[in-house]
Amino acid sequence: MADYADSHQCRRKELLAWFGEDWPHLFCGACDNCEAPRERFDATVEAQKLSSCIIRIHQHDLGHANLTTYGIGANTSANEWMSIGRQLIPSGHIATSDDRWQTVSVSARGREALTARRTFLLTRLLVVTVSKADSKGQELAHDEGLFQALRALRKAEADTWACTVHGVWRRGPFPVLPHTPPFGAGAHLR
Ligand SMILES: [Zn+2]
Repeated sequence: MADYADSHQCRRKELLAWFGEDWPHLFCGACDNCEAPRERFDATVEAQKLSSCIIRIHQHDLGHANLTTYGIGANTSANEWMSIGRQLIPSGHIATSDDRWQTVSVSARGREALTARRTFLLTRLLVVTVSKADSKGQELAHDEGLFQALRALRKAEADTWACTVHGVWRRGPFPVLPHTPPFGAGAHLR
């Protein structure tokens, strides 16, 4: 799934390929990657660093802090390294073992690319930013009295059904619910 998310290829083509169908086109014109092609960047230095690090780990059974490559990836986030690593597996530069540990190693192709200083053009990791207000909803204005009443009602429901309060309603919508009565105050009485 992560490989699919990292991919810069047409989603339709990839999905059909997964189901064994060779779709004869490169673009469908309707998926996210066709409508807004993903940014690609020269990841040569990153691919070299990652490959060197894997090779060093295999060569010496050292603690991480003792590696000569220790700290060389500090300017790239862990998620970006994961994305780079995932892209180097289908391209055949990094191999994973068949056992359940799926240990990584640099393949013959990866070593050759390293020696020949080949250029790596990879897809930039897509970063989705969610604002604090959107993610928590706690900065929305709300009716504190109604909020507390709903909270008490939830507690009473939980006691009645002998379950946790979280089993009654999730905490999330609470600050939003008392914000505006959906049909105006007293509408249900008319
Ligand atoms: Zn497409």
